[in-house]
Amino acid sequence: MSERIFNFSAGPAILPEAVLLEAQRDLVALPGVGMSVLEISHRSKTFEAILAKTEADLRTLGGVPANYKVLFLQGGASLQFSMVPLNLLTAGTTADYIVTGGWSQKAVKEAQRVGTVHIAGSTESENFARIPRQDELQLTPGAAYVHFTTNNTLFGTEWASEPSVGDVPLVADTSSDMFSRPIDVAKYGLIYAGAQKNLGPSGVTLVIVREDLLARSSKTLHTMLNYAVHAENGSMYNTPPCFGIYLMGLVMKWALAQGGLAAISAANDRKAAALYAEIDRTGFYRGTAAKDSRSRMNITFRLPSEELEGKFVKESTAAGLDGLKGHRSVGGMRASIYNAFPEAGVTALVDFMREFERKNG
Ligand SMILES: *Cc1c(COP(=O)(O)O)cnc(C)c1O
Repeated sequence: MSERIFNFSAGPAILPEAVLLEAQRDLVALPGVGMSVLEISHRSKTFEAILAKTEADLRTLGGVPANYKVLFLQGGASLQFSMVPLNLLTAGTTADYIVTGGWSQKAVKEAQRVGTVHIAGSTESENFARIPRQDELQLTPGAAYVHFTTNNTLFGTEWASEPSVGDVPLVADTSSDMFSRPIDVAKYGLIYAGAQKNLGPSGVTLVIVREDLLARSSKTLHTMLNYAVHAENGSMYNTPPCFGIYLMGLVMKWALAQGGLAAISAANDRKAAALYAEIDRTGFYRGTAAKDSRSRMNITFRLPSEELEGKFVKESTAAGLDGLKGHRSVGGMRASIYNAFPEAGVTALVDFMREFERKNG
């Protein structure tokens, strides 16, 4: 597919080429069905099988324990900013939020509409350039849950491992690093992720929730905002995002064929290491995240001047390296290199960076 360029978009983001080709091949008629997945009833045997296989493969890939429900919802990660507190932040309790970037801040804003929120840690005063240390966290004993953002898409930082929160349920927005490495689901009460970075297309949101927490969902909640309802109905209370689930299923199959999360993680480590090595090589480029907090998914860096940054964006785009302009909250460049991003694309960027520095350094 010579017309495909290297896509560094932060999201929606690159999908595995094998997934796109399979979806394209079967788009007009699913094999043996004679209709498109876009056209069939969500109550059909065919779709039920697609949903079941997607969930089964996802459970295998992530090692999801049996006492966790897997839900396929809509509304993006942003609706989870509301659904998490609406379901889990019961009257008289406090939710702890660790604030490590713009998405954490948005999650806090919605939780504050529901109940009492305690900011258990924040690196805002350092423009979110690092992840807080465990000894900086001020956790509320007996909190309803602790919410954190595993990877900070805008600021290029990522938690190396989960914060320790004792018996309090840990809730994680994993939108931009879900399944980029092995994840010990049993450490979490609830995990959510908009699909459009590592899991599939936009329009479907993954939620993995420990069964006992479903008891907190009040019967007075609006039906579509109630985790327990979605769990009881196997994500089919209403029409689910059928095409997104189908495509997520193809991505799960692809991820298993790569060798699972250990193999995917090793590839992600190699890609990130190559890029950070180039950033650190001479001082021309400057990584914006503290070294111990660096993301393997979104690699943020600056150049010596904004003028050179503008030139870098223009010339890299012309060279077939698309989407490198950084988010305005950090400036500079951001290379998003999710699971599906090929190692050849990282090599191409490193080569481009060397040549750019040679000409402009
Ligand atoms: C992209 C992103 C979101 C927003 O996701 P939507 O599906 O657009 O609501 C939330 N959190 C993180 C960490 C993200 O990267």
